[in-house]
Amino acid sequence: MTSKQKERLAPLIKSFFQSHPHAERIKADPVELPHRYTDPREIELVGWLAAALAYGRVDLFKAAVEKILALMEGRPYSYLARFDPVRERPRFKGIYYRLNSTDDLFCFIYMMSRVVQRFGSVGALFRSLYREEEEDLGPTLSRFIGIVSSIDSRPVYGKKGIPDGLRQLLSSPAQGSACKRMNLYLRWMVRPSDGIDFGLWREVPPGKLIIPLDTHIVRISRYLGLTRRKSPDWKMAKEITQSLKAFDPLDPLKYDFGLCHLGISGACPIERDREKCRACSLLDGCRRGRRAVGAIQGLPLPSITIS
Ligand code: SF4
Repeated sequence: MTSKQKERLAPLIKSFFQSHPHAERIKADPVELPHRYTDPREIELVGWLAAALAYGRVDLFKAAVEKILALMEGRPYSYLARFDPVRERPRFKGIYYRLNSTDDLFCFIYMMSRVVQRFGSVGALFRSLYREEEEDLGPTLSRFIGIVSSIDSRPVYGKKGIPDGLRQLLSSPAQGSACKRMNLYLRWMVRPSDGIDFGLWREVPPGKLIIPLDTHIVRISRYLGLTRRKSPDWKMAKEITQSLKAFDPLDPLKYDFGLCHLGISGACPIERDREKCRACSLLDGCRRGRRAVGAIQGLPLPSITIS
């Protein structure tokens, strides 16, 4: 982002953040699931599960999470602390979600149980892996996923290895993936409590987070000039995060929920909509919006697809 762009966008993005009642959008967001719990250890576990499955339609992945939570009978921590794979396996029959088979989901829950039994909590493991000297949470996340992935999956699959449907739940920056769902989870755990995020892992500074790169963040970031990169990968996530640091270096992801829901809510639709752009408080800093209302001429921005 050029300094001219920063100057233009800074007051707009700050006023956008202050004027939007973001908490009203919680019901349409997977963060609603961990918000049902009060024990920090349960918020961590339900958050991890909800974020891991947060792809596709919200109502569909929430339904899959609800089925697993129902097995936990309102007490995820004690359920996982006493998890017995032999006893529990039949109870998962018929539970699956898109790319994740029943075995994949069962193995993921089994791995969560091993983390609880071995390290006490998800947060205890993640925080033990954090290194202050590292630039961002990418290396910590890679170590975390490395440890979880090393848990012996033979009790579930009967053989060594991680099938694709389980691997999809354990994405790592080490493979260059944007790790949208894990970065979303980390935002929930690390950002200060504000009615959306929980601020549970206070040892980890919010300035080390990397933005969860979903399809809405990719396109709106391009409209606002927060990134020039074409490929929606870890490097793009870092670039957008770096751009947002121009507006708040210590807590750049405070803008993530609002920008993402600008897209999810349809207030910033994929199809060009002159009236919606006219009503948008980001219009003066948005190339696409200014084209839509006829303020500037030019070619359309290239489209980007993110899975
Ligand atoms: S001005 Fe239009 S395109 Fe730009 S962010 Fe707002 S609604 Fe979206």
